[in-house]
Amino acid sequence: MAKPLSSRITSMAGSATVQVMNKARALKQQGVDIMDLGGGDPDFDTPEHIQQAAIEAMRSGFTHYVSSSGIPELRKAIARKLAVENGVEVDPDKGIIVTSGGKLALYATIMALLNEGDEVILPEPAWVTYRPVIQLAGGTTVALPLTAENGFAVTETALRSIVTPRTKLIILNSPCNPTGKVLSRGELEIIAAVARENDLYVISDEIYEKIIFDGREHISIASLPRMAERTVILNGHSKAYAMTGWRLGYLAGPPALVKEIGKIQEQTATCAPSFVQVGGVAALEGPQEPVARMTAEYERRRNFFVQMLNDIPHVSCFVPEGAFYAFPRFELGLDSIQLADMLLEKARVAGTPGSAFGAAGEGHVRFSFATSPEVLETAARRIKEMLS
Ligand code: PLP
Repeated sequence: MAKPLSSRITSMAGSATVQVMNKARALKQQGVDIMDLGGGDPDFDTPEHIQQAAIEAMRSGFTHYVSSSGIPELRKAIARKLAVENGVEVDPDKGIIVTSGGKLALYATIMALLNEGDEVILPEPAWVTYRPVIQLAGGTTVALPLTAENGFAVTETALRSIVTPRTKLIILNSPCNPTGKVLSRGELEIIAAVARENDLYVISDEIYEKIIFDGREHISIASLPRMAERTVILNGHSKAYAMTGWRLGYLAGPPALVKEIGKIQEQTATCAPSFVQVGGVAALEGPQEPVARMTAEYERRRNFFVQMLNDIPHVSCFVPEGAFYAFPRFELGLDSIQLADMLLEKARVAGTPGSAFGAAGEGHVRFSFATSPEVLETAARRIKEMLS
């Protein structure tokens, strides 16, 4: 009989969003006409000047291993961006690591931070990847449940009530996948005070910072007083620059912690791909007009799509303040897996069940609007027809 596989891995959940994408893809291959709002991949191509920079780098022979923490030009560009846009000073040599996607930045940071039994506060609904990675590192997720009725706001009483002597880390994601909530300065100040008082680390996942609507401001918690010393900022090029397939992300934080995180990179990926990083420099240092154009288009889609959803009986949707997801609640007495299955089978619309984002997501389904307006309109129409 074969020996059992690693229980750390066999007990870990796969990605619900990847599963929805696979299911929708399989149905499409069978010829079923599916409106696929499952994934989180911009429908735009990477801007031309970014592609050109990487192609030229590759052609000129920039195809070898590079510094494990990232090419100096990219680390400098990231440090400049953090200082100018986020008001956070980070040492480009000791405080930044460039990774193969934001996901690996998250993985390495959690692995470097957690010991067995450490507690991590996670405002939920939250992106599907945080819980499994915390579990893999031996940590325990403690949910801070947020509700649509309350605008997914973080309140001081609720946050303080779940801090224990074992709490080590709080994970923030603003703008949030899946809710679209952007944390206000007031909320960030509360979280920062709790983190300072209880000596907690913060991971601030800011990957959607540029996709923000209604003239709102993205504030990094690391820019608040005495927070840079306990915060790791996670970010990456996937969403803002439509570069998901390039696999380029980064983290920035206090040097002593970044040094330990660096060991994981050295012993796994070695470095992020060399010529991809040259494209990453072009993205940060080149014209930002494509980002503004894509964000304006996401905002336009949000406006009509969320309106269409809110016009459907039994459906109510928080108006997303950033990112590119709508997270409506369906008052039908079904759980979210049943809901997502029904939407796929009867309306031929693929969405991700809300429970994949934690118990607080129950009753909701996540739809991505990083897809064409025609697909969004058809999807909303089909849902309406199904429920009428
Ligand atoms: N953080 C959040 C909240 C995300 O939604 C994603 C991707 O979906 C990531 C991080 C990681 O993206 P990537 O690994 O493409 O950089």
